[in-house]
Amino acid sequence: MKKSIGIDLGTTNSAAAIKKVRVEVLKNAEGELITPSCVTVRKRLMRKPEFIVGRHALEWLRQEPEQTITAVKRLIGRNFHDPEVQELIASGRFRCRLSAHSHGSRNSIAIQAGGREFSPEEISAQILVKIKADAERVLGDTVETAVITVPAYFNDKQKHATRAAAALAGLKVSRLLPEPTAAAISFGVDQVSGDEGKTVLVFDFGGGTLDLSLLAISGGQIIEMAKGGDMWMGGEDIDNLLVVHALRETAAREGMDDVRLRALIGRMEPGQRSRFLAELKLAAEKAKIALSDNPEVFLAVLGLLTDEDGDPLNIEAEFCREQIEELMAPMLTAMLKLVRSLLAEAHFTKDLIDHVLLVGGSSRIPCVADALRQEFGAEKVLLHERPMLAVAEGAAILSHRLADTQECPACGKETGQHEPVCPHCGFDLAQHTAEQGLVDIVHAAAHDYFIRLENDQRFLLIRKNTPLPCSSTEVFHLVDAEQELVHMQFYNVVNGREESIGDLWLGIDHDMFSADSKTVSPDAPPRVAVTLDIDESNLVSVRAALVGRPEVKVAGTLSRGKADEKLFLLLERTISEADQKGYSTYTVADLLCRARSIIRLIQQVVDERSGEVNESLCQQIEEKISKAVKIAEAEEAPLTRIYYAESMLTDYGMLIETPLQERIRKKIERLRKADEEGSYEETMQAMEELELLLEHPGLNTAHALTQIENACEICHRTEPDKAKRFMRAAAEVLAAAEKGEEPCFEQLEAIMPEVEAVLDQHASSTQEIHRGIRR
Ligand code: ADP
Ligand code: MG
Repeated sequence: MKKSIGIDLGTTNSAAAIKKVRVEVLKNAEGELITPSCVTVRKRLMRKPEFIVGRHALEWLRQEPEQTITAVKRLIGRNFHDPEVQELIASGRFRCRLSAHSHGSRNSIAIQAGGREFSPEEISAQILVKIKADAERVLGDTVETAVITVPAYFNDKQKHATRAAAALAGLKVSRLLPEPTAAAISFGVDQVSGDEGKTVLVFDFGGGTLDLSLLAISGGQIIEMAKGGDMWMGGEDIDNLLVVHALRETAAREGMDDVRLRALIGRMEPGQRSRFLAELKLAAEKAKIALSDNPEVFLAVLGLLTDEDGDPLNIEAEFCREQIEELMAPMLTAMLKLVRSLLAEAHFTKDLIDHVLLVGGSSRIPCVADALRQEFGAEKVLLHERPMLAVAEGAAILSHRLADTQECPACGKETGQHEPVCPHCGFDLAQHTAEQGLVDIVHAAAHDYFIRLENDQRFLLIRKNTPLPCSSTEVFHLVDAEQELVHMQFYNVVNGREESIGDLWLGIDHDMFSADSKTVSPDAPPRVAVTLDIDESNLVSVRAALVGRPEVKVAGTLSRGKADEKLFLLLERTISEADQKGYSTYTVADLLCRARSIIRLIQQVVDERSGEVNESLCQQIEEKISKAVKIAEAEEAPLTRIYYAESMLTDYGMLIETPLQERIRKKIERLRKADEEGSYEETMQAMEELELLLEHPGLNTAHALTQIENACEICHRTEPDKAKRFMRAAAEVLAAAEKGEEPCFEQLEAIMPEVEAVLDQHASSTQEIHRGIRR
């Protein structure tokens, strides 16, 4: 039976659990319940790099800090230029090199390790690969699906990236569950029955972050009311306090000042120094953890540091509880301030909180729980028995509920999730489920979701706190009746700042508007129906389709900082430059035709599920875009010429001798092929050949008729009388030609200057390239 597990993919540590009759945290290959979220990439000659994950990677951190990635969760789904990422780089916390991804948009992050570039998703995927493999080892079965937890503050991009990491690791995600909700489930508070609603504050104090969430729980629903905390306050900062203190004590004992001791460390050879600092930090963490259960501990790093004379200088310090409490006092004050401001923000007072739930490794420090007991009253503060495993346990409980099958708690055999009684032993499964409490968890949309309209107006598609899943479909008008491109931009507003969720492009081929389409009148701008869906995990997907033309549609392909976004940006830039330069009608028509096919290709660049990028397609598209720019700059229009020649053959082929028709077809084919695959020069060469052939005297009548028809099309709305005159003339010429008579050249001569004037004016006019939508 394939297994479903729960995974806490933490910043510092990860863990996996499964619920059978009880919840069981799964041991990894090292025999531990917790796997450090640490990945070392080792380069191998002529082979793919090797990944070392968990405890062993932590050991490599001392020797190869540049190849070892910790806290990748801080990077996932973020942009390289995000202030948080820049801060992370500046702080030196990240020892491996980070840069903007060479294949992704300017904004995506590349982690350089083991001589290659990795996306944060790829590194996260390696942690999940180990967790999955280790779980399979202890369960003796394949693990197919998982509930994976994410911080409550993760936005759509971060959640999508987490899902992509899972896909790369071969895991199906049945739900992305917010960590505080998972913690609350593991405390059992979800079993609160109907009327007695509860309000709980989840206080998750981990290795690098303090995450606060205010949840309202009643009748099987958990609603998140507010969240807060500090992205940069965690166990690691406490380790640093201990390091500073130990150095100070050592200096005092040796009778030197701090500055001299720091200078000695600064003078160490870089490799040696980073090893020393890593050892010191590990020793500090060890001391800190020991201090949670012992009144006194001893910290020592021996034999790595020497003084100016080369004599060993050992770092040694003694700590007691009071000392760590003194060191942490400012942090505890800041922590309580964060708690109070969260309550104030949500218009809550302390007495309205029923429970404060403490999870995360750092909540084991006695003074942390003490401070909260003082604030809320001892009886309200619940410290989880296994604070570092709580989130994984909650995820396992939900994973079990979401699975299609379950193990019967009585006989252990596989039964359907919704069977009322076990088909094997008759156990009352329905009763058991009811006793277990909650059936599902309802979340609400985390933000307001907007789409951008012309002139930068915002339009609200989904309001914050709408229960999930939810969906909204709205119809918008295109700005122009003949608009061929639609660029839709979706975004949230977070803390007053617009945060892009992604863009969607739609290309409309007006030739596809067949005559039998009754729903669309050619004069009214087409309308586009945009649907935004948010699933149970708060993940967004969008669809767009032309009203009455369901075949023109795009689905789901929101660009999110990957290679496709980069290409779309390039396309957008090309089009706005063309707009500024004001190319003539036929050049613009040619460019738009290219843009439509480029859009279709860009939509295939990123695998929607795994986020993998088709590199060679990317390159092809970049080449196509630069060719399009070159053609437009030369004010050429090969595709428009093909269109002209083809419509002449279709409409007036009977006036052209068959061998000549054949020759034209061949030239068209050649031009099409050169345009598709060849260089700019080859395309121009093929176009010249077609042009030359189109000057053949045997085409005079067909040309004239095609031109009249085109002129009619141009002026039928603005000058209907002229258009009618043109039509009549064309009909007579055609009738004569079909009878085999000489066409009446006088009539043509009388009308052609007017026709040419219409065409010339059209050709030389410039055309704005519309992309917007309006209500
Ligand atoms: P994260 O959610 O960031 O992955 P965890 O909840 O696993 O983090 O917490 C990891 C942090 O908890 C580390 O900084 C670790 O040093 C700290 N920690 C673990 N056990 C204890 C303990 N007994 N006392 C104090 N700190 C602890
Ligand atoms: Mg955690």
